[in-house]
Amino acid sequence: MPDMAERSDVVVLGGGPAGLSAALAAARDGASVTVVESADQVGGLCRTLEGDGCRFDLGGHIPFIHDPARVAWAEAITDRPMLWVDRPVARMQHGRITPGRYIDQMPAAPDDLVADDGTAAGELGSHVGVAFRDHVIRPYMEKVDGWPLEVISADRARKLRDEQQAPNGFWYPEGGIGALMDAMADGVRRAGGDIRLGTRVTGLHHDGGRVTGIAIENGTASVLEAPTVICAITPGAVVAAADPPAPEGLLVPVTQRAVTLVYLVADRERLTDEAWIQVADRRVPFSRIAEFRNWDPGLVPAGRTVLCAEVYGSATDDDPWWPLTDEQLVEAVKASLVDPLGWTDDASDFRALRVIRMPRAYPLVEADRVNDVVHAPQWLWGLDGMELARGGTVVTAIEAGEAAVARIAAAAR
Ligand SMILES: Cc1cc2nc3c(=O)[nH]c(=O)nc-3n(C[C@H](O)[C@H](O)[C@H](O)COP(=O)(O)OP(=O)(O)OC[C@H]3O[C@@H](n4cnc5c(N)ncnc54)[C@H](O)[C@@H]3O)c2cc1C
Repeated sequence: MPDMAERSDVVVLGGGPAGLSAALAAARDGASVTVVESADQVGGLCRTLEGDGCRFDLGGHIPFIHDPARVAWAEAITDRPMLWVDRPVARMQHGRITPGRYIDQMPAAPDDLVADDGTAAGELGSHVGVAFRDHVIRPYMEKVDGWPLEVISADRARKLRDEQQAPNGFWYPEGGIGALMDAMADGVRRAGGDIRLGTRVTGLHHDGGRVTGIAIENGTASVLEAPTVICAITPGAVVAAADPPAPEGLLVPVTQRAVTLVYLVADRERLTDEAWIQVADRRVPFSRIAEFRNWDPGLVPAGRTVLCAEVYGSATDDDPWWPLTDEQLVEAVKASLVDPLGWTDDASDFRALRVIRMPRAYPLVEADRVNDVVHAPQWLWGLDGMELARGGTVVTAIEAGEAAVARIAAAAR
């Protein structure tokens, strides 16, 4: 270990919502905290971008807060009231925009329930019944995830159903989801924490089953030491960087789903009255589209509207949309607004604001491989001094960061 190692009480890997909430909780507990973040801004996937005088999130980002205490927490951190967006997520059905997600339209007492067999098909069939699953959920979910429900793990369906509910509307931070991330980062710094932007985690030193250091790189290489490291980045990446190497066979390939975000802007007041619309129709490139003026009018100047079409797929040549050029994809999205969606007679006033390609936007695990993919995180978590904090949504990521710090505090008692 080089002599130049720096020391703190807690090192947090990653400055997304999980890493920031862990850092905030630890710093508020009085620990000296160092956050290592490779990007030049905090927030991870929960970022708010700017362009053409507008602010827009990196894809629609509803925090899905279901607990008043979490609203109060967010208001205290941002020092502003949260906005209540009085619109549930909507869907396209029978040729019309209709309030409510596809999944929330389930029959009150389905009479065709089946056993949960560990797949998304079984999980949904055991809750919403076979007919509703096949006619309403299957087209949408298979368009998003690209696999038959029989291949996708039950956990994915469970999370979609339970964690992403917003039946009457949703809480949203004024100024965009990134405002909440920036406020958490400010809180970390005010509590004495150090956030190192533009700094990559490149190695995990361990000895005798204990973490002994984190190698980082920001132009120069150095090592951070701490009795506790909280991993809020992909565990597999840290396991792959273990020195000495982790036991063979821990790392297995995981399918990554791609998302292309197509942002359009037009000088018109709005296209729809909705915040976010789910679209199952496969003729339409996108599966969800956000209109940011309807989330927070302050994001977009009057007389202008910004859309974000989320085009799900795989970053391969056989995907229907990924191989298109950005210009072709923009034109395909614009054309679909007219036909088949019928939301406008003429979309020619919409111009491309930005196209962001995310070839590895989220992992997708087959139902019969869920036990294979846990070995790397389990090995990492098994090291003394290592905590994991991961979440599939904004709020579960924040909760995971806080839970990691609570476990450290409990272990110290
Ligand atoms: C298109 C899209 C739409 C979404 N919509 C919603 C939504 O509406 N509601 C919702 O709740 N969730 C949504 N999500 C999911 C949500 O963004 C994630 O669950 C959440 O961001 C996870 O937080 P995290 O902190 O675990 O990871 P991340 O946000 O991925 O943060 C990880 C951080 O670690 C950094 N990092 C990675 N590797 C290294 C390294 N080697 N060294 C240093 N730093 C590193 C990254 O730069 C990043 O900042 C969406 C995701 C996508 C892709």
